[in-house]
Amino acid sequence: MQQQEKLTCEGASSQDARERVEALRREIEHHSYQYYALDAPEISDAAFDSLMRQLRQLEEEHPELVDPTSPTQRIGGYVGEQFVPVKHAKRMYSLDNAMDLDELDDWVRGVEQELGAFPQLCLELKIDGSSIALTYEQGALVRAATRGDGTTGEDVTGNMRTVSDVPLRLRQGSTSALASPDAPIELRGEVFMPKKSFDALNAAAERAGKQQFANPRNAAAGSLRQKDPLVTASRNLSTYMYAVADEALLPVGGQWELLEWLRSAGFHVNPDVARASSLSEVHAFCEASLKKRTTLPYEIDGVVVKVDSFAQQAELGYTSRAPKWAIAFKFPPEEKTTLLKDITVQVGRTGVLTPVAELEPVVVAGSTVARATLHNADEVHRKDVRIGDTVIVRKAGDVIPEVLGPVLSLRPDDALVWQAPRVCPSCGSPVVTDRNEVALRCISIDCPAQALERLLHWASRQAMDIDGAGTEIIKRLVELGRLSDVADYYSLTAEELAMVETSRANSEGFHIRLGSTVAGKLVAAIEASKSRPFGRVVNGLGIRHVGKNTAELLVQAFPSMEALMKASIEELSQVDGVGETVAESICTFMRTPDNISVIERLDAAGVTMALAQAAPGEEVPQTLAGLTFVLTGALATSGMTRDEAGERLRAMGAKVSSGVSKKTSYLVAGEAAGSKYDKAVKLGIPVLDEAQFLAMLETGEPPVMP
Ligand code: AMP
Repeated sequence: MQQQEKLTCEGASSQDARERVEALRREIEHHSYQYYALDAPEISDAAFDSLMRQLRQLEEEHPELVDPTSPTQRIGGYVGEQFVPVKHAKRMYSLDNAMDLDELDDWVRGVEQELGAFPQLCLELKIDGSSIALTYEQGALVRAATRGDGTTGEDVTGNMRTVSDVPLRLRQGSTSALASPDAPIELRGEVFMPKKSFDALNAAAERAGKQQFANPRNAAAGSLRQKDPLVTASRNLSTYMYAVADEALLPVGGQWELLEWLRSAGFHVNPDVARASSLSEVHAFCEASLKKRTTLPYEIDGVVVKVDSFAQQAELGYTSRAPKWAIAFKFPPEEKTTLLKDITVQVGRTGVLTPVAELEPVVVAGSTVARATLHNADEVHRKDVRIGDTVIVRKAGDVIPEVLGPVLSLRPDDALVWQAPRVCPSCGSPVVTDRNEVALRCISIDCPAQALERLLHWASRQAMDIDGAGTEIIKRLVELGRLSDVADYYSLTAEELAMVETSRANSEGFHIRLGSTVAGKLVAAIEASKSRPFGRVVNGLGIRHVGKNTAELLVQAFPSMEALMKASIEELSQVDGVGETVAESICTFMRTPDNISVIERLDAAGVTMALAQAAPGEEVPQTLAGLTFVLTGALATSGMTRDEAGERLRAMGAKVSSGVSKKTSYLVAGEAAGSKYDKAVKLGIPVLDEAQFLAMLETGEPPVMP
């Protein structure tokens, strides 16, 4: 930015203009590098755009200065025949695969034997995109080619130039140390489509009634083969570079140093890399990457393990297909096929009827899947899944399993089309369809399935945390008519609970009673729940659209049940994060006589009905008032859950929000932080690690960031 003041273009002589144009280009390249390669922008988007505008204006006034490497020339700056064959300077290899850790170990041991010692390894993520080779001559990008068959690829220069993180020229200084600075140098990596761009692209295709891409990998490859570079530019592709065709050209001795050189030359290099000199380090990286997989903003399908030293790589050599010095550890497949045995219907606590796929159990991405939600009746019909179909099930990491659709070629003749129920499977009342909603709903207040879900929600850890109130016992108490709403919990006695027969039977066939020990513990847990903070109580009520976070926001604005019950839709909508639908739902809930009576009985039982007023002398200083925090990752050192961390922050006056935005004051990033971290860095929001966070809780003072 230093040069900015000097860079007005009035009255520029040609020599002045040349210097200014060059200075501007360097400045823009610097900021592109900071933004795209390092994810650490130094200036705002507006300031960046203004630099670009100045450069464009100068180039318009001085057309003789226009150069294909100028940042203004990403689109249309390259004139060349598209997709002509390009012979690679050196073959572009594929990778051999290890399908599990055992195969990976075998490979590492083989390499160790061959080299006579355990090698230093470089570990990288396997980016799921398309291979790309970029050739630079005298520092300028002259060609981009796909892998093709490994020997000959296609020229996609015009399209790759539009990819924002591809430098049109190498950063100053990076070429001076090259063995022969004037020789063409071919650098390689992966071009990919970030998940967000992929979702946006497919959503647009769906709206336009066009065919959607199956996955980001195909979308990236398809976007590269566009006749019009403007289309490619609109696809928001990105790159991670990791290789050089001829390493003898570079002043580096191994893969790790190569990555560093690539970064210094201006390329986007994946930050998730590690070095390993033992099998346990390799395993740790593979396992951590697998865990991280779903939180990354782009797709990966494994880890690439490479022998670091180029000398050792040469010693190991190549097979006809792949290097012997590298291997791809492939993640377990996230999609499997299985039999759809039945579609059942579950009734939720707000009466929504959800069709559920009952599957022949199948192991997907490391865990067994036997049931998966089908969301609603429309979804069942849209996906055209029928009972008896073989279906594709997807489970990505920790994400909830999903039925993608049927394998039509395997559909049996007697596959059954599912019919949405007309009556609630739990209470037999007729079901209704909500206005503006696809959901089927049972609106009976006597529906035992809803009562059960509401009672379980009240007792759940996020709400009143009643230890011992599990599904089986609560279901039994509902059947016995002892529990029908959440206030009933507080009239249960240890004596009556002790006598309740469970569904388990003893050897003589008699039902086992709960017994006085278990009953005593349950009553104590119910008693303890009375003093849970007010936000938990509001969450526990199970108001539609009001989850844990909204409940916390509400109680800050309406610190007592009385205030919350009186609040109008307008007043409720004032609360940050509460829209009209949510406000309407709260009002309806609070004006329903049955609900009011439950709240009154809870109050009479001694359940918290207001935000805690700290006793004088005990007051927690509100030193974090006015600040908004977002939490991500695991707080592994302290073992604090995110809820607990959130409560500590709120107690000190801070707001805790679930998503990073410009309004976020700090991001607290624990271990395995995900996309929120990337977003915070992009927006320049200060990030606290766990140690800084704990120190802040201790001192009450937010840290001053450099
Ligand atoms: P595959 O296409 O499954 O045989 O895998 C080989 C391909 O993985 C290579 O051709 C590269 O395009 C790609 N790949 C993705 N990430 C990396 C990486 N970090 N190192 C090497 N190759 C990678």
